[in-house]
Amino acid sequence: MSGRRRIGVMGGTFDPIHHGHLVAASEVQALFGLEQVVFVPTGQPWQKSQTEVSPAEHRYLMTVIATASNPRFTVSRVDIDRPGPTYTIDTLRDLRAERPDDELFFITGADALADILSWKDADALWELAHFVGVTRPGHVLSDKGLPEDRVTLQEVPAMAISSTDCRARVVGGEPVWYLVPDGVVQYINKYCLYTGLPCGAPPVEPLARRVAITATNALSPQGDQ
Ligand code: ATP
Ligand code: MG
Repeated sequence: MSGRRRIGVMGGTFDPIHHGHLVAASEVQALFGLEQVVFVPTGQPWQKSQTEVSPAEHRYLMTVIATASNPRFTVSRVDIDRPGPTYTIDTLRDLRAERPDDELFFITGADALADILSWKDADALWELAHFVGVTRPGHVLSDKGLPEDRVTLQEVPAMAISSTDCRARVVGGEPVWYLVPDGVVQYINKYCLYTGLPCGAPPVEPLARRVAITATNALSPQGDQ
């Protein structure tokens, strides 16, 4: 048996992260015996430069909340902290530099995998990772033109969930409970994501001032007498 650790890499915009992402990652983790799956929220995704994407910190924090309970899931900031648009080749090079001895498995939806040949430096991708294209049962999979030994197509349980649909639901006032983890529903509500409406969260300043006043009172010499 090889001593290399097998690490999954799940890249995505995660705006918001949903149970489709989590089920896909969990399924591939189990099937491929991965020690860990690293979720990597994109910085500015180049495919989505025309559409509005939530700030990276919101997407990062939602990903942390969604994955926190699974000991095999972690989140990386490599794409968020690298300036400029996010390309998968840079993601994989950065992760490879962090863990030169590990074997990387890049998990992606079959929709995205089909476009892989158009990705930046596509030829170099195969040397950096094995690619796992996931899709729903009944969906036709095509790996035409992709190197057989570097790509595996894998059906995952039916999850007709997309971030686009979740955002549309929030805008339309429809529920996203159970499509995304509970903590993510609460995060979306707390920061009023997707609606474009001003957020009703109370300002932080008065609370900070109250704490400061309380602390000052506690320190006042009167307390000692
Ligand atoms: P959007 O609708 O905004 O494009 P998305 O739901 O496709 O969002 P992304 O963050 O773009 O989510 O996707 C990250 C990765 O997860 C991609 O490889 C995508 O193909 C895959 N993916 C998205 N939804 C599912 C799902 N329901 N089941 C399995 N994989 C999915
Ligand atoms: Mg997508």
